[in-house]
Amino acid sequence: MKQLLLILLSILFIQEIKAKSYEGYKVYKLKPENINHDKIIEYLQEDSIFYFLDEGQIESGKPIDVMIEQQYQNYFENMLEKNKFKFDVLVDNVEKVLEQERLDQRLTRTSGLGQVTFNSYMYYSEQMAYLHRLGRDYPEIVAILKLGESYEGRDITALRLSSGPSTDPSKTKPVIFIDAGIHCREWIAPAVALYIIQQLVENPQNALFYQNVDWDIVPNLNPDGYEYTQREDRLWRKTRRPNPNQPNYCMGTDLNRNFDHYWMYAGASSNPCSEIYAGPEAFSESESRAIRDYFLANGETIKLYLSFHSYVSMVLYPWGYASTLPEDHEELQRLGELAADAIHRSTTINSRYTVNTSTLALGPGAGGSDDWVKGVANVSLAYCFELPHGDSPFPFLFPARQLFAAVRETFEAIKVYHQYIENKFWNNNNQ
Ligand SMILES: [Zn+2]
Repeated sequence: MKQLLLILLSILFIQEIKAKSYEGYKVYKLKPENINHDKIIEYLQEDSIFYFLDEGQIESGKPIDVMIEQQYQNYFENMLEKNKFKFDVLVDNVEKVLEQERLDQRLTRTSGLGQVTFNSYMYYSEQMAYLHRLGRDYPEIVAILKLGESYEGRDITALRLSSGPSTDPSKTKPVIFIDAGIHCREWIAPAVALYIIQQLVENPQNALFYQNVDWDIVPNLNPDGYEYTQREDRLWRKTRRPNPNQPNYCMGTDLNRNFDHYWMYAGASSNPCSEIYAGPEAFSESESRAIRDYFLANGETIKLYLSFHSYVSMVLYPWGYASTLPEDHEELQRLGELAADAIHRSTTINSRYTVNTSTLALGPGAGGSDDWVKGVANVSLAYCFELPHGDSPFPFLFPARQLFAAVRETFEAIKVYHQYIENKFWNNNNQ
């Protein structure tokens, strides 16, 4: 046993040495105040040495976070000062924050295979082992579905939870579809999806949640990227499919720009090195195709779509391609506010959500999954749910010690969504 422990520790140590170092990298919060500042950001965004962390676009008055390695910092700060461009240094040395996270991970990693934990972030293989264990232990309500495969051949797995087909021949049960981890560095998102799964399947008090409503939950939609963030580069966002004739750091596609609804219309890039690279064509990625194919086969029954991201504490809904409002925006806004209110009432980590369309909140980002689900798969209630960042100095690194509080409060929003879907599509369904 001791020997096994030593081997495991040495593997961890080797992995740490191999991992990309962010030594000396700083994170700046830029505060654009005029069009000149906006133009500067636009110009910087074209260059991959400036690593923009926000999902959204530039807008005067809206701060934006950017990470820069040491050798460009002087040039950058001088340029800002020359242009009277205000900024704060948010993180002085990114690697220090990453080190702390790795340490926390190692100290709190307690789950055995087939178990789930919310004290630390699980590996993809551990997440899958948990789902399969639930499939074995609860065969009467749980089915494990393979929706597709990632580029590197990992399963895109959904857990389907159902008490069985509708016994009323005049009604079909509505389905709530949840995915997480499209952006693989947003580790809190798969953890939230796993907590929803655990609460629904393993907490008998919640059995009512799947009497009249079925659930499809994909806790990790970008497993290649997730593994890569666990072992190599903590801040990777895209898929891991190489782009022809491009260096390693220009690999991958932003899955949340890859869906075929106004693809590449705005807020997406055709540059493979960009963090918001939309891919060579819509649905170029097997991970987004897995979602597409599942919705095209089951779309009629799915009544709510939730896609979990982090880190800006926002309940967002379409459209993400432009500032146009969907016809049913009032309903989307109202339901989003009910969900946000439920979190506000229960939060112990001071989470404060706002509710809006993606474009109005963050600027356009065409090709998002929620836009496609609503616009093409005709699921009218579709949300991009941006989880909070807790008190981490680096927004993507939601601290493991606050994870349980975050997943628990988010489940309060899930209860609200469930009640709404059950009322609208089951209790009041007179089809
Ligand atoms: Zn995201």
